[in-house]
Amino acid sequence: MSIPVGVASPGHAAVVHVAVLATCVAALAGAFLLRPSEDGLGLLGCRWPFHCWLYETLGIRCALCGMSRSFCSLARGDVVAGLHFHRLGPVVFALFCLEIPYRLGALAAGGRGINTRLARLHLCTVGLVGAAVLVNWMVYLGGLIL
Ligand SMILES: [Zn+2]
Repeated sequence: MSIPVGVASPGHAAVVHVAVLATCVAALAGAFLLRPSEDGLGLLGCRWPFHCWLYETLGIRCALCGMSRSFCSLARGDVVAGLHFHRLGPVVFALFCLEIPYRLGALAAGGRGINTRLARLHLCTVGLVGAAVLVNWMVYLGGLIL
């Protein structure tokens, strides 16, 4: 048995799958190209111009601060640095890696949809990782208040 995952039509599902696939491929490709450092990212000796708006203006880290540097470290095989920049970086990096075969499989399945168990497992995994990132940020914010 198969179900379309949270979308109204197979055409809409394909657009979502392609968008998520492109996002994950772009993020992982960027992780392999950019070089991480304590003060940001660099590419061919140039500083990456994009920084966290929340951190730049208020000095407060957002839920994803350090995730890019974590991804770049993990792409180089440095798990310790990946954990240093964001404690959930390795988990999110693994999720991005797993999204690629999942989305390709979903696109290959087309109108037949994805296996129900796999779709539910995927949805639970994404939800758990998202919740973990949110809880991690709440703990950080709580540390700022206390
Ligand atoms: Zn941030």
